[in-house]
Amino acid sequence: MVSFYPGPSRVYDGVPRWTAEAARKGILSMNHRSPAFMNMVKETCALLQTKLNVPKSYSIFFVSSATECWEILAQSLIDKDSLHIHNGAFGEKWYQYTKRLKPGATEFHFDRETLPDLSPVTAGAGTLLCLTHNETSNGTALPVTFMRETRKKFPSNLIAVDATSSMAGVALDFKLADAWFASVQKCFGLPAGLALLICSPAAMARAGQLNEALHYNSLVYMQAMMDKFQTTHTPNVLGIYLLNRSLRSRNRISVIDRAIRNRAKAWYSLFETHASLRPLIREPKVRSHTVVTVTAQPVYLEEIKKKTSKKGILLGEGYGNLKATTARVANFPAIKTLEIRRLMQIFHRL
Ligand SMILES: *Cc1c(COP(=O)(O)O)cnc(C)c1O
Repeated sequence: MVSFYPGPSRVYDGVPRWTAEAARKGILSMNHRSPAFMNMVKETCALLQTKLNVPKSYSIFFVSSATECWEILAQSLIDKDSLHIHNGAFGEKWYQYTKRLKPGATEFHFDRETLPDLSPVTAGAGTLLCLTHNETSNGTALPVTFMRETRKKFPSNLIAVDATSSMAGVALDFKLADAWFASVQKCFGLPAGLALLICSPAAMARAGQLNEALHYNSLVYMQAMMDKFQTTHTPNVLGIYLLNRSLRSRNRISVIDRAIRNRAKAWYSLFETHASLRPLIREPKVRSHTVVTVTAQPVYLEEIKKKTSKKGILLGEGYGNLKATTARVANFPAIKTLEIRRLMQIFHRL
């Protein structure tokens, strides 16, 4: 079965081979305080810098999930309040999780066919701005021009970005925000259970100032451990190894970005000219490149899912209140051109 589900999704073909290699090399029982582990972490950070253009001045942390990142940021980077600018289910969830820990959290909801109009938006000096770069639930994304404008409008606020379904798929300008995070079961093409949190010097300074130290995953503790290329807990060592191996054989993000954008273009033009399917998002400016959402009559969608599954392809279900009326097609780097061609052929014949 080839999974076009937008997470967990298809993993790289190398994963079984790299896992066997990890077993052979003793990685599976590697001590997380050993020099070998520290070396692996150091090397993986360097790979993230070269392959994804993560700035050298930014701190990289290995955590368990994007959901954990929501809590880490709420604990360690928010004093009183945060502002969640969102248009869908994941942004909404982030807001809800934060509000439980920091009741001062507020939200600014925008329409999924438009970019958020920030002109009426104000934020206090300590407010953490929270953006979902790629809203996996509906297939929208924030273009780099918007990220740049936001950085300009709020020069002294920290900006946090959930890039779970776009990091490692499209090129990100990390300098435009202070905390970026993603779990690896989406564009990284790896099995779930590992996530990355990437923080600017300003974010780390703020964490030091707030000095929140109540949790094993308080940023100040995580930083103290990462200074030694270690983690506060026993991490997903195999996950880090797989990340290391996959990054080594990966192209630079600029090359991947180009391919992903071209594939997205092909998907949208197929659906725009299809007899019964339509892209859910009509405005090209806000369409995601990594998650393509299509809409059709519910009975028709059911039929499509049956047909694709008979041919060994798993389509992504709609998410939340879009469940019955949409399907999602992951456009992640690990999916092969040949597999895309096969799925496109099924759609063409419908
Ligand atoms: C998948 C996803 C999450 C949740 O990721 P976990 O690894 O399950 O915590 C959060 N945000 C976005 C945008 C996602 O796509």
